Amino acid sequence: MHQIVQRLIRIQDQIKEEDSKNHTPNDTKIIAICKTFPLDVIMPLIEYGHLHFGENKIQEAKIKWTNIKKARPEINLHFVGKLQTNKAKDVVKLFDYVHSLESIKQAEALVKYENKFKKKLKYFVQINIGGETQKSGIDLKDVKNFLETCKNNYDLNIIGLMCLPPDSQFPEKYFKKMLDLKTALLTSYQHQVNELSIGMSNDYIKAIQCRSTFLRIGTKIFGERN
Ligand SMILES: *Cc1c(COP(=O)(O)O)cnc(C)c1O
Repeated sequence: MHQIVQRLIRIQDQIKEEDSKNHTPNDTKIIAICKTFPLDVIMPLIEYGHLHFGENKIQEAKIKWTNIKKARPEINLHFVGKLQTNKAKDVVKLFDYVHSLESIKQAEALVKYENKFKKKLKYFVQINIGGETQKSGIDLKDVKNFLETCKNNYDLNIIGLMCLPPDSQFPEKYFKKMLDLKTALLTSYQHQVNELSIGMSNDYIKAIQCRSTFLRIGTKIFGERN
């Protein structure tokens, strides 16, 4: 079996192992983040039947995925990069999930093309969980209002929360905060956001333990990027 497939299976096994310690499994899915890698490197995973892939650049994604997506409509493409509003059209056309929703301007642009193409995407609101000035994402205190505006004014299908934790030896602190936020939104405001997009190559085990439902993994599957 191809090495890249073996690496994916290894992570799937680790998910099962963590789940077996829980009363209620997370059903954590792996998004293979394949940015910078050409299609021939990714192909063994597609052939194996893997269904979730992620990219962070629109232009690169269009070139790599437009034909494959037509041939295999069951594949889910996740946009995990920073979203420029002038790229909203391409995002809605090509992608199924967006992990980086963080402004009303984006919501406005996205809904315009959702209506135009009669297609609905699934969204994660990116949270600036460490309150870092240089980082993208919605501040904790603004999450409730942002969710309400996106749902009420734009009818976006927001399914979850995403974060890039501060560089730290202790990402679990931030992952726990994300889980608490998800719980608080449900219990205090009846906002049901079921999914958590947390965990990358370096911290995914901790993310599974904090009930991640979507891991975004590049290096641990494809190797180091140039
Ligand atoms: C590149 C990227 C990942 C994957 O990173 P690895 O450390 O290679 O697993 C995850 N999320 C986002 C937003 C990324 O840009």
